[in-house]
Amino acid sequence: MPDSHHHEILIAGGGIGGLAAAIALARRGRRVRVLEKAAEFGEIGYGIQMGPNIYPILERLGVFEAMAPNVVYPDALVLADAMSGEELTRISLGAAFRARFKYPYFVVHRRDLHGAFLSACQSRTEIVLEASKGLARFVQESGRVRVTCEDGSEYMGAALIGADGLWSPTRAAVVGDGAPRLAGHYVYRGVVPTEEVIDRSYLDSMVIYGGHDLHLVQYRLRGGKVVNNVATIESGRFKRGADGAGDPQELEEAFAKCAPRVRDMLRYVSRERNWVLHDRDPVTNWTDGNVTLLGDAAHPTLQYLAQGACMAIEDAVVLAAEVARHGDDYRRAFLAYQAQRMNRTARVVLSSRFFGAYIHASGGARALRNELLAKRSWDDPWEIDWLYCGIQLPD
Ligand SMILES: Cc1cc2nc3c(=O)[nH]c(=O)nc-3n(C[C@H](O)[C@H](O)[C@H](O)COP(=O)(O)OP(=O)(O)OC[C@H]3O[C@@H](n4cnc5c(N)ncnc54)[C@H](O)[C@@H]3O)c2cc1C
Repeated sequence: MPDSHHHEILIAGGGIGGLAAAIALARRGRRVRVLEKAAEFGEIGYGIQMGPNIYPILERLGVFEAMAPNVVYPDALVLADAMSGEELTRISLGAAFRARFKYPYFVVHRRDLHGAFLSACQSRTEIVLEASKGLARFVQESGRVRVTCEDGSEYMGAALIGADGLWSPTRAAVVGDGAPRLAGHYVYRGVVPTEEVIDRSYLDSMVIYGGHDLHLVQYRLRGGKVVNNVATIESGRFKRGADGAGDPQELEEAFAKCAPRVRDMLRYVSRERNWVLHDRDPVTNWTDGNVTLLGDAAHPTLQYLAQGACMAIEDAVVLAAEVARHGDDYRRAFLAYQAQRMNRTARVVLSSRFFGAYIHASGGARALRNELLAKRSWDDPWEIDWLYCGIQLPD
């Protein structure tokens, strides 16, 4: 182990959170080594939504320009009833929204977002990226952290940031709260050329069709050339403990109850693979000495506010600012970082659960939801101020 590694910060995980942290720390003059378990640094081939809280951070980190040509700015966030097909409400993303939140809402292909972070990391001499380096375990000794990877290689760092996702082994050691909570919500995705989409009612928007224990999201990507589709069901079989939870047959059965034009949209999602959703109850500590957590490793959330990656990116700039403020006292830096991030991320986790139940409502809950939304002003998204106004960006 070369001695020069002693002042490096080690980051386990090269997803959006890990790479954002690497850039934010490098910009503060720190040397960083990112250890990624997969054989290559990359992201899955679907879309991701970015709230106005994230735009200024991406600009600050110098990564927005690279993805800008591929970004799409929807005209509205629309919520429609999947059972009737009728629009319930919308948040217009035009002048009033921009005046309120200062920055736009946009959607982007995950590979374009991750790719922009990756090229920014590759262009900085302070950052070393290593693939096929899954963290297996770590020990803290004499104020440093020794990481052992799955292939037996070892690295000594001044500190360790666990950005190693939902199943984070770093979290297992620091928090030790077992497996994440299995929500029993199953997600199917698909990206299709825009010309293949038959119902074009909301092609310029981000639309959510919410129905009984299900929803479908649609928005355009890559300058509008393709449409991202995400269909989610709350599996009845999962709730009953039956076999085949979330399988394609259950997806079809759930959407059979929807309005025909919503049911027809299932043709755009692939049946080859699904994702089952997890989150965790918020905790009050995710730091141990010179080791801390970031992104999904710290506060995994359901996707219903579309803010998991946004929170990871916010984490990165706050963490880097606290590291810069505390010199080599990583323990204090990490405690100060988590103190700023805990309640905000807990609110995202808990509000996402609530919002999921809200859009998946049925029976009397659906009737109440639809009546309340009918009275809501379209240009008045201010109930989301706490989230979209963002964080005070550190100097
Ligand atoms: C259906 C769905 C839709 C979503 N939509 C949105 C959205 O619109 N907007 C939004 O902001 N968020 C969204 N999210 C959430 C978002 O995808 C995650 O919150 C985000 O990807 C978390 O980033 P991360 O870097 O913390 O973790 P990850 O992206 O999981 O990255 C973790 C990295 O660590 C690596 N790793 C794992 N184990 C190890 C190890 N032992 N050692 C080293 N490396 C390791 C992994 O290979 C991976 O590269 C959505 C999530 C889902 C499921």
